[in-house]
Amino acid sequence: MRAIRDRLRELYGRPVNHPHGDPVHELVKTILSQNTSDTNRDAAYERLRKRFDNWEEVRDAPVSEVADAIRPGGLSVTKSPRIQEALRGCGDPIDLSWLRDAPRGEAIDFLTSLPGVGRKTAACVLIFSFDRPEIPVDTHVHRVGERLGLFRDRASFEEAHDVMLRVVDPEDAYELHINLIRHGRAVCRPRPRCEQCALRLMCPYWRRLAAARRQRPDTEAKEA
Ligand code: SF4
Repeated sequence: MRAIRDRLRELYGRPVNHPHGDPVHELVKTILSQNTSDTNRDAAYERLRKRFDNWEEVRDAPVSEVADAIRPGGLSVTKSPRIQEALRGCGDPIDLSWLRDAPRGEAIDFLTSLPGVGRKTAACVLIFSFDRPEIPVDTHVHRVGERLGLFRDRASFEEAHDVMLRVVDPEDAYELHINLIRHGRAVCRPRPRCEQCALRLMCPYWRRLAAARRQRPDTEAKEA
């Protein structure tokens, strides 16, 4: 794990987390980010904040108004009730600042009990708000992690979360989350660019691929 961390650091630098201390912001933003680009998510979030003065207003507004505000983010009809339901679970007045010091299990259990909130969203809230050591496993982290053998093939996202937490040093959580995403976008794409990859000598996926290539000429020769 540390060798992978170091190689990724050589490639992409050492990102530093700047926790913003606003878990409700992170919760809503992460729900908005589902199935859309960062640009569309940000546009939807900005419109939502401009339309309503506070989170209680968002929670209590007619759902059609919330849907209208977040329309640029896509799936507004699905996301608007999801946001309101999540906000209804956040106390009155809405406040999640207690998550900063809550025991980890309690914080995760609470967040994942909110409608529409899974492990990834819960991890985002904790790491980006408070720099609590979590590794949100999105599609990039899952794909790259699986190929690098960090967890077993076809592990669920939930299992991948648990394994990543076990194998990563807490102080490396943010760095690895960001750099695995960068690597997933740049090189280890759905169609991986293994020939260009600086991690291939430590990658089980690459080793399997290389072994299959070595065997292929023999097989072809025998068949001929
Ligand atoms: S060698 Fe290929 S599969 Fe392995 S990390 Fe690099 S791009 Fe991904």
